[in-house]
Amino acid sequence: MSIEQAPDAQALISGNRRALAKAITLIESRKTDHHQQAQALLSSLLPHTGNSIRIGITGIPGVGKSTFIEALGLSLIDKGHRVAVLAVDPSSPLKGGSILGDKTRMEQLSRSQQAFIRPSPSEGSLGGVAQKTRESILLCEAAGYDVILVETVGVGQSEYEVASMVDFFLVLMLPNAGDELQGIKRGIMELADALVINKADGDFKPAAENTRNHYQNALHLLQNEGPWTPQILSCSALHNEGIEEVWNMITTFREQAQQSGALDTRRKQQNLHWLDTLIQIMLLEQLSQSDRAQVQLKQARQAVADHQMTPLQAAQSVLDVLRTPCD
Ligand code: GDP
Repeated sequence: MSIEQAPDAQALISGNRRALAKAITLIESRKTDHHQQAQALLSSLLPHTGNSIRIGITGIPGVGKSTFIEALGLSLIDKGHRVAVLAVDPSSPLKGGSILGDKTRMEQLSRSQQAFIRPSPSEGSLGGVAQKTRESILLCEAAGYDVILVETVGVGQSEYEVASMVDFFLVLMLPNAGDELQGIKRGIMELADALVINKADGDFKPAAENTRNHYQNALHLLQNEGPWTPQILSCSALHNEGIEEVWNMITTFREQAQQSGALDTRRKQQNLHWLDTLIQIMLLEQLSQSDRAQVQLKQARQAVADHQMTPLQAAQSVLDVLRTPCD
């Protein structure tokens, strides 16, 4: 998609999907002048952001994420919502492609005029992809999407990133297995606002009930910091059963969190954390782009290896070079 012309902010605000797609392409661009354009666009749109519920959805491949998102998304559209689906899935160079965000995975939803589905940027480090997803959330909000679903595969680092950019973090599970068998790390469980056991249908039904009881009994392990008690539900995304209950739970969470101010606090903390992360990323970028600092870094590394400088002195010497303007 060409972004020679700046995306039209007004068209984006009025819900034009092409303008939104173009704006996301702009923020994903690696060109420096695009960065400036993107930031100007984002800051002009900031007053129009924040009016959605941001929901993170994770789970191992095959658990039913896309089936679930399609069922939930279609039911929300029926209720009059507008639904955006974003994926955080830094593609692995080994696998050579993205496992998420493929439009054909959510065929019906992607045909709806009230849905917007955007795969992960096809390249970039996790930090970069996460940064772009955060900005994409803001753009989708400005375009009037009031439910944002951020999908990620629950097998790596990306779940932590997603949990730190959403209001509600939902972990999809398979029936019949403990978390160690599901490849889900304890750390992820602690971030969960809800565990939803999918595929609670047919022969899997008793196993889904067992799994649900198992987690219900282990609920104290899930207790995250906020006032919300994580919930354990089961559903069948394939047969559209239990999806309504999941949505009711999320709306209850939202009402409580809005009333208590917890939602606002969570978003503020996330933004401050994002700021800190950005400063680190930008400083490292500056370091990698400065030839003088790279030369100094090489010397400093050697000096540390030869016990001629302490690591602190060496780090200081590199920063000094960064701070000194070029002649
Ligand atoms: P993802 O990799 O997590 O996105 O999983 P998919 O949504 O692609 O689903 C993987 C497989 O599980 C597909 O064959 C789905 O039809 C199936 N599946 C998804 N949800 C359910 C469910 O609720 N019940 C049953 N029985 N199968 C399901």
